[in-house]
Amino acid sequence: MKQKTLPMMLAVSMALAGVFAAPQAHASKDKPVIGFSIDDLRVERWTRDREYFKAAAEKAGATVSVQSADANEQKQIQQIENLISRKVDVIVIVPFNAKTLTTVVAEAKKAGIKVISYDRLILNADVDAYISFDNEKVGQMQAQGVVDATGGKGNYFLLGGAPTDNNAKILRDGQMKVLDPLVKSGAVKIVGQQWTNEWLASNAQSIIENALTANKNNIQGIVASNDGTAGGAIAALQGQKLAGKVAVSGQDADLAAIKRIKAGTQTMTVYKPIKTIATDAANLAVQFAKGEAPKFTSKMNNGKKDVDTILLTPTALTKQNVDLVVKDGFYTQAQVGN
Ligand code: BGC
Repeated sequence: MKQKTLPMMLAVSMALAGVFAAPQAHASKDKPVIGFSIDDLRVERWTRDREYFKAAAEKAGATVSVQSADANEQKQIQQIENLISRKVDVIVIVPFNAKTLTTVVAEAKKAGIKVISYDRLILNADVDAYISFDNEKVGQMQAQGVVDATGGKGNYFLLGGAPTDNNAKILRDGQMKVLDPLVKSGAVKIVGQQWTNEWLASNAQSIIENALTANKNNIQGIVASNDGTAGGAIAALQGQKLAGKVAVSGQDADLAAIKRIKAGTQTMTVYKPIKTIATDAANLAVQFAKGEAPKFTSKMNNGKKDVDTILLTPTALTKQNVDLVVKDGFYTQAQVGN
C-alpha cells in the first residue's frame, strides 16, 4: 500500500474531525454567507428592509443570517461577534449606537470580513461601505413641509430622532438649513427641541405633551424626524384636540403615516424606496464576497476614514402626491384605503 504523506494524513483527519465541514463563508464565494445585524425590528420599515434584503441576496446566490438587537447596544455587539465567529463573508449593520462599534468592526476586519454600514453610518470604524438615503435632504424636506403648511411662520418644536443615531444629527442639519433664515428673520421661533430615545413613539408623545403644556398649546409646527415619532406627537395633539391644526412632518411612509396624511392629521412624510436600498446593499455584499470592486458615488467621513458611499434619493409626500406609494407598488390601494 502506498504510504500517505503527513500533510495528506493531516488533511484527512482534519476533514474527519469536521474542521472543513461547517458551511464556512470563506470556503465558497459562489454561495456567500451574509450576516445582517439590524438595530430594531420594532420599527415598521426595518422588517421591510429585512425581507427585500433577503430576497435580493438569495436571488444572487447568497444566504442571509438576520439578527435583531432590539435597540440594545450590548446585544448588537454580541450578535456581530457571533457572526464573526461563524466566519460569514460580509456583515451588514444597521447600528443602534453609531459610536460603540469601533472594536467589533475591527475584529471583523481582522477576520477578513467586509463590513457595510446600512442606512446609518457607523462612526470611528473601518467600515468598507456606507449605503443610505440622502439624510440631509430628508431633513430639508421635513422642515420645508412644515414651513409650507404654516406659511413659514409661528412657533415650532424640533422633535429629533435617537441621540445614538448619526442620522438624527444629519436630519437636524438638513432641517436647520431650511429653518435658520426664518429663525433669523424672526418669522419662526423654535420653542423647544429634544432627541427621542430609541426613536420610540411613546417617548415622542410625552415630549410633545410636555411641550404643549409648557407653551400653553401655542405651537404651530412640529418637525418630527420620522413617522413613528410623528405618530406619538399626533397622539399628544389629539389629547388637546389639535390634531390636524398643527403641522407635523415625518419620514418612512409607514402605513399609519400614509393614512394620517390622507386623514389630514400628518402634513407630510418622506418616501424612501426600501426595496432599492435593500437590493443595492445585498448586491454590494455579494460583490464584496466575490472579491469584486463595487461602484460608489461619493464618500462620507466617519471620523476614521472617508467611507465609500452610495446615497439614494428620497421623495417628499403630502396629501397631493401620497398616492405615489400605490403607483410604486409600496402599498396596495386596499392597504391605504381611498
Ligand atoms: C432611519 C429612519 C428610521 C429611524 C428609526 C433612521 O436611522 O433612517 O428611516 O425611521 O432610523 O428606526
